[in-house]
Amino acid sequence: DPQSREQSPLLKRRLRNAGASSVLFYREPIEMVSGSGAWMVAANGKRYLDFYNNVPSVGHCHPHVVAAVADQMARLNINTRYLNARVDDYLDRLKSTFPSALSNVVLTCSGSEANDIAMRVAIAATEKRGFIVAENAYHGNTAWVTEISPAALKKRTLPDHVIAIPAPASGPLAGKNFAASVERAISELTARGHGLAALICDSIFSSDGIFADPAGFLKEAVEKTREAGGLYIADEVQPGFARSGDSFWGFGRHGVEPDIVTMGKPIGNGFPMAGMATRPDLLERFCREVGYFNTFGGNPVAAAAGMAVLEVIESEGLQENARKIGGYLKSRLEDVERTTSGIGEVRGAGLFVGVDICSDGRPDAKKTSDVINKLKDKGILVGAAGLFANTLKLRPPLCLTQSEADIFADALRDALST
Ligand code: PMP
Repeated sequence: DPQSREQSPLLKRRLRNAGASSVLFYREPIEMVSGSGAWMVAANGKRYLDFYNNVPSVGHCHPHVVAAVADQMARLNINTRYLNARVDDYLDRLKSTFPSALSNVVLTCSGSEANDIAMRVAIAATEKRGFIVAENAYHGNTAWVTEISPAALKKRTLPDHVIAIPAPASGPLAGKNFAASVERAISELTARGHGLAALICDSIFSSDGIFADPAGFLKEAVEKTREAGGLYIADEVQPGFARSGDSFWGFGRHGVEPDIVTMGKPIGNGFPMAGMATRPDLLERFCREVGYFNTFGGNPVAAAAGMAVLEVIESEGLQENARKIGGYLKSRLEDVERTTSGIGEVRGAGLFVGVDICSDGRPDAKKTSDVINKLKDKGILVGAAGLFANTLKLRPPLCLTQSEADIFADALRDALST
C-alpha cells in the first residue's frame, strides 16, 4: 500500500502525479540517476547490481547505442510514411535472425501493441476467436491483451474465449502434459463455439516462474495447435535477443517455428520500440480488413537503436556470454541450494534464471519478499515471479561478468542464512 510508505518528497510528487496508476518497486522506492554495464547508481550515491532489468540488455547506457540514437536524432526523425534506408537496413538485419518464412515485420512502440496486432492477425487468418495462454501469463496492457494476461487480472476472471493452462513444469513429462492441456483447451474452446485462433506463450514462461527445460517441450503443443487450425504466437518479449544463450530466440531452444513472433523490451536497450514478425500471407489477410499504421513504430531513431543493439550482441559475443556466465551462475546457485535451506529449485536457460524460495518444501511468498528486500539492502536488485510469487526472477544484462555472478550468489547465500 503506497499510502503507508515512509514517503520521500519525490515519492509524494509521484503519487500526486500518477495516482492509482503508480507501480513502484520496494516499500521505499529507489531514486535512480545513472547506470553503466550491469550497475545503476541511486541519487544517494549507492550502487546497485541490476539483476532485475532485461530492458538494457546489452548494458545500461551502452555507448554504442547512445551514440547511434543521438546521431540519428540529430539528423532526422520522421513519421514512418517516408522511406529511409536506415529502417530497411535494420529490418534486413533483424530478419536475418528469424526463420526465413517470417519475412514481414511490423514495428511498434511497445510489446503490448505487438501482441495486440498478433491477436488480430490470428483472428483474421483463422476466423476464430479463442486463445490459449499460460496460467500466470502477462502479455501486455491493451484492452484485448489484458484479456489474455491472467497475471494482470486482479480477479483472475478470464473472458469466455480465453483459456489458461498450467505452464510446463520441469521434468521429462513437461511437453506431454503441456500438450495434453492444450488439447483439452482446444476441445473446450470448440464446445464454447469460439474455436481456436492461437496458442500464445512466452517460450520461457517468465511470469509463470521461468520454465525452460527440457528444451523441446513446446513441440507437441504446437503440433496440436496446428492440427486444430490455430496459430502459434511466440511472445519473445522476455526470452528474445540472445538471453537464453542457446539460441537468439527462445523458440529456437524448442525447435519450433512460430507463425507469429512478438518482441520488445531488450530490442532497443530502453528506446521504446517493439515489433511483430509473421508470414506475408497472414499479414495480408489482416491488412485487407484494417489500414494499420503506427506513427512512431520503427522510425529512423528506433531503427538506429535496434541496429546498435544487434551490433553489440554480435561484436561483444553476448549470446555466448549469456550461455557461459548463465551456466556459471546456475551452478553457483545450485551450490547455494545444497548448502542452505530455503531453495526449492534452480532452473532456467542462459541469463534467465528462476530460484524457488520455499519453507519446508512449500512456496513461501513472504520469505521471497524478505529475501528481495535483504538483497536490496546489499545493493542487488531482483524481482519475483510465479503463481505463488516465490520465484526469484534473475535477468541481469547480458554483459554480466563472472565476478558479478559471484556477488549475487554470495549475497543470496547470506540472505538465506541470516
Ligand atoms: N509480453 C511479455 C512476456 C512481457 O513480459 C511484457 C511486459 N512485461 C509484454 C509482453 C508487454 O510489453 P510492454 O510493457 O512493452 O507493452
